[in-house]
This record gives sequence, C-alpha cells and structure tokens, in this order.
Amino acid sequence: MGEPRNGLIGLGWAQKETERLLREVLECAIRYLDSLEERPVSPPPQALQNLGHLEQALPERGRDGLETLGLLDKYGAPATVASAGSRYFGFVNGAVLPAALAASWMSSAWDQNAGLPVMSPVADRLHEVVRGWLLDLLGLPEDGELVLVSGASMANTTALIAARDRLLSQAGWDVQADGLFGAPPLQVVVGEAVHSTMLKSLGMAGLGRQRVIMVPADAQGRMRADALPDLEGPVLVCAQAGEVNSGAFDPFAEIISWARRRQAWVHVDGAFGLWALSDPDKAHLVEGLRHADSWVTDGHKLLNLTYDCGILLVRRGEDLRRSFAATAAYLPPDRGFEALHHGPQGSQRARQIEIWAALRTLGRSGVRALLRRQCRSAEMLAEGLAEGGLEVLNEVVFNQVLVRAHEDELTLRLIAAVQQDATCWCGPTDWHGRPAMRVSVSSWRTGPQAAQRSLTAILRCARQTGAIAS
Ligand SMILES: *Cc1c(COP(=O)(O)O)cnc(C)c1O
Repeated sequence: MGEPRNGLIGLGWAQKETERLLREVLECAIRYLDSLEERPVSPPPQALQNLGHLEQALPERGRDGLETLGLLDKYGAPATVASAGSRYFGFVNGAVLPAALAASWMSSAWDQNAGLPVMSPVADRLHEVVRGWLLDLLGLPEDGELVLVSGASMANTTALIAARDRLLSQAGWDVQADGLFGAPPLQVVVGEAVHSTMLKSLGMAGLGRQRVIMVPADAQGRMRADALPDLEGPVLVCAQAGEVNSGAFDPFAEIISWARRRQAWVHVDGAFGLWALSDPDKAHLVEGLRHADSWVTDGHKLLNLTYDCGILLVRRGEDLRRSFAATAAYLPPDRGFEALHHGPQGSQRARQIEIWAALRTLGRSGVRALLRRQCRSAEMLAEGLAEGGLEVLNEVVFNQVLVRAHEDELTLRLIAAVQQDATCWCGPTDWHGRPAMRVSVSSWRTGPQAAQRSLTAILRCARQTGAIAS
C-alpha cells in the first residue's frame, strides 16, 4: 500500500493518493444518490447487522485508504436513512441540493478555517455576501449581522447569550466579567409550544429551563398574545416561526407591540419557518416578524444544505462582540465581522461557501419555488390522508402535517407499519396529550409523484392495521 515511510509524505504520493480516493468517492456517491429513489427509506435489519464489519479493533498499522472507503461504501451506505431522497418525512430533516453537496466538497478540499478573515479571505468575503443576500431574501434590516453555527440549537443559544448580555448590561451588569451570580433578574417569556431545544438553549445560557414564564398556546401551538403577562423589563421573549408539529406561526405583530411597551428583546426561532419571509404568498404568517431583534433558521432543514448549518441573524451586530470577543471584549472591531469574536466557535468550517453556492444556484425565485414545492406536497399529503379516512389535526399552513386514526392504539400501529413498510418514513409525536403521526416535507425532491407514492403506502398501511376501514 501507499503508506508513507517514517511519517514523511512524498508530495507526488499525496497528490496521487488524493486523486485515487476522490475519484472513488465520486463514483460511490453518484451510485448512492442514484439508488435513493428505489431503496427502502430506512435500512433493512441485514444492513444494520452488517455494520459489525466496521467495528474492528483500531489497526496497529495504517490500512489502505481505498480499501477503507470501500468498507464505508459496502457497509455504511446501506445502513443510512434515505433522508436525502424524496420520501423521508421524519423530524424536519432536509435533503441536500446538488449545488450544495458539490460546494461542500469543494469547501472541504479547500479546508478553510473561517474563524478569522486572515485565515480565509474567500470565507470572509462570502460571509459578507451571504449576510447581504440572506437579509435581502428575508426582508430583514440590511445592516443586520450574520453568525453561522452548527444548527438552530446553537444559533438559538448564541442569540440568547447576546440578548441576555445586552439586557443585563442595560441594567448595569456585565455578565461576561461577573457571570450571572448576583445579576439583576431577567424575565424570560416562551410559548407553551416552545421547541424542546429552546429550553435546552435557555438552560445552557444560564437562564434556566424552568425559570421561564410560559404563555399558553392556542390549539395550533401559537403563543396566545392575549395571555402575555404584564411584566416590567428587562424581558427576553422567545417566539416561534414554525411550530415543530403543526408548522404554526406565533402572532408576531402582537408580541412585538407588547415587547415595545417593555424593555424587551424579541428572539424568533424559525429553524424551518423563517423561510416563509422569502415568499410573498406567506406574508400573512409572518406579519411583524421583521421587527424582532434576532432570528434563527437552519440551512440543513428546508434550504437543503449539508449538515451542519445554523443561521443566526441579529439586528445589531455590536450585540455579538459584547458576548463573544475572545480578547479585549470592549475594543471595537479592527475591521468588520470576525467569526471568532462574534460567535461561540473559534475554528470553524466556512459554511458560507455552501450557502453562497446554493443561493446563487437557486436565485430568489428558486428559493420560493423550493419552499412552495415542499408546502404544496404537504397539502397534497394532507388532502389525500383526510380523504382516505385519517384525521388531519392541524391547519396545514406550511410543510407540516399531523394525522391520527380514531383510536390512539391504531395511530401507533399505523406509524409502526409505515416505518416497517419503508416506502416513506413518518415519526410519532404527542399532540395535545395524544399520539399523532408527523409528516414533515423537507426535501427539494418531494413533488407530486413522491407524495402520491407515499400517500398510497400510508393508506395501504392504514387499511392493513385497521386504522381506516378496508
Ligand atoms: C430543528 C429545530 C430546532 C433545533 O435545530 P437543530 O438544527 O437540530 O439544532 C430548534 N427549533 C425548531 C423549531 C426546530 O424545528
């Protein structure tokens, strides 16, 4: 094999080795993606058993790279979930756009550290371009700032930390210097249908998972603005664009006007729903949303980028450096944005490369078309499921559909049957204390054909389990 002796890597060897491996990976990846539409959405038991072939003792001597990749292709690929395909409706797991996948390969080859502009001029410049594009696409304040992190969980945490530090600094307390012990109180308001990871983020930010004021939600999971408490500031409100089960949007205009009368920071978790801002047809869902202080979304959900890509946009860029500067926290920036001093991560992947490529390839109309296709497929599934005799539980305003059979036991059997059948994949959830099946359309590949094929499979499973009459 081509193992370099004495740790000295010949440059000629390295070049050939790289080419050999990348060509092989290209072949494997194309084969994998070609097979996606025909293979079961979740791996069969044999594929799981074969994963044992990857559980080897760490070899003493290095092994051939090509042989190593061969093992991944042979045993790893069959044990993947086909979430990159057209019929995976679990969680809100997006697929991957061709241009995003390709740009992520290019970006990996470049191996840029986007922590500081000096480490990667291309990452620095593309961060600025992508910042402008995202703010424009979503209609958010053009001088807002962008932070890229691993996902909505970290993006929400980052926003909460920035909000916390700003609000407490206005109250005369320096959290970065003195921590939270002894700090003036900060009220945190969330809706009853808050995403579980938002509570985790609040815990990580030192604000407490249970110390929150929880505002009741309506039947769709929207925060009830009429139930917002009469509070004095400082207040941090966490609203939601896209409830994870129903896809519902909080009443932002009312929440914002409540917040304006207090010393409040309004944060919006729009892990998948924020993209509604890019489509004029969905304006009724997002009224007032643009007046918040910070907004989060994911690149790896509806936009269909590779993992992992969390996007935070903040109204005032200076709120980031206060919390995240690694040195001399209060010095003004030497220059513009520096990821290392504006977010929680130091070294980091240049996620902006892939975002740039995806947005440029899609264009404004392409983003809208992608979103509409996902939402239309969700509507189509909802209509078909209802016609077939299942109960659709939510107003299908976005990409999410919730269904149940007339008995909880039958709903659970239906979910198990759908997963076993593996034409498509839907997960379970709890909806108002009872089980429901969640259908989340999050792939660019899901069109009428995939929706119809999935619908047929789900209704077949429903008849087989007695969830609907056969
Ligand atoms: C998915 C999701 C999150 C968490 O996002 P990650 O990318 O998994 O960290 C947070 N909030 C909502 C509403 C979500 O749908």
